[in-house]
Amino acid sequence: MEVQFLGGADEIGRSAVLVDDSLLLDYGMASESPPQYPVGDVDPDAVVVSHGHLDHAGAVPALMSSGDLPPVHWTPPTRDLATTLAEDTLKLHGSTPRCPFTDTDVRRLTQASVTHGYGESFEAAGYDVTLYNAGHIPGSAHVLVDDSEVRRTSGNRTQSDDGETQLLYTGDFHTGTQRLVAPSTARPEVDAVICESTYSDVTHEARETVEKRFVESVRQTVWEGGTVVVPAFAIGRTQEVMLVCAAHDVDCYVDGMGQRVTEQLKRHPEFLRDADALSGATSAARFVDGRDGQRKRIAKQNTVIVTTSGMLSGGPAMTYVPAIRQHPTNKVALTGYQVEGTPGRELLETGSAELDGRVLPVSAQVELHQFSAHADREGLLDFLDSYRDTAVLVNHGDRTAAFAEALRADGFTASAPELGETVEL
Ligand SMILES: [Zn+2]
Repeated sequence: MEVQFLGGADEIGRSAVLVDDSLLLDYGMASESPPQYPVGDVDPDAVVVSHGHLDHAGAVPALMSSGDLPPVHWTPPTRDLATTLAEDTLKLHGSTPRCPFTDTDVRRLTQASVTHGYGESFEAAGYDVTLYNAGHIPGSAHVLVDDSEVRRTSGNRTQSDDGETQLLYTGDFHTGTQRLVAPSTARPEVDAVICESTYSDVTHEARETVEKRFVESVRQTVWEGGTVVVPAFAIGRTQEVMLVCAAHDVDCYVDGMGQRVTEQLKRHPEFLRDADALSGATSAARFVDGRDGQRKRIAKQNTVIVTTSGMLSGGPAMTYVPAIRQHPTNKVALTGYQVEGTPGRELLETGSAELDGRVLPVSAQVELHQFSAHADREGLLDFLDSYRDTAVLVNHGDRTAAFAEALRADGFTASAPELGETVEL
């Protein structure tokens, strides 16, 4: 088996791994400006998508422009989320060189889509493939690829091209508990693992500690008469924060794309840790449609507003943060890692940020609460402990080479492929 890294090697964003020039695992885009896409021309026989985040699924519609549609295999939530992301990308960049697909391609995606549950093996490009819960967001999967009975059909003849490699592509995963999804526990026996390493040099605080501090902080501000804006990613984080608020009886408004995503996820209760809890949290939250100056009125209230975007690069947060910024009683409670160069990061580091084209000083309090959906260093090592006799290829991180080196020092056979590199397994 040969795997080529078309993106996501030594970087976070535009994940894409091509197996034997035939089976494509993920096809993402990095949302920096201008957006970045996987390298090389690719014409796969089939695609498997690990989960519905932009950096793993964002460029999949671009594979729909050729005559033969490659089947796209994923879980039902991943299909829904990827479609929502594609429509959002069209809205932001459609008909410009920044968008590599059209609305026709997005429609054709529906024809190419094949959905699967966890643990159900299926055939893709002749390989046996199985998805396992990755514990990252609803529908997220580890992808097991088995070439031991590769079947390539040409005409009426099926050629057997048996290999002997079983590969596990982790996608993004979490071994810790979140309210929205159950943690990753499957450890299928394989010959090689492609392992994400987003937080290979970070130790997360216990989730209960993060949650407790967040709730206390939010309550304090509301008690003092202030308004709290909680920027949160639409997919996963908005719902996690809604669940935290509901569990602690904190009333909140919810605004932005996270509303639509919440409704989508509720349609797939088998991919949620506690579907009833999400239904309850949705009933308790007040959804905002933004009509008739509603946002400006809400921003004056003594309340909590959960809204996109998570790094303050757009969305209704562009109304809320400027509206509450001048008063130190108010608070901006960021809920996840802020990538360098984003307004969220700028705000944390300098106390002002470029919001909607204007650089604005923020006198409101600014906090960062690390609600992560990724395994930290200990989580990664705990996962990899099941793969001590297995080739480990480290990807999806800023420090993949350093982590691979640390693993080698610990007795692993580990490497960190570079962008465009092909590895023989
Ligand atoms: Zn992800």
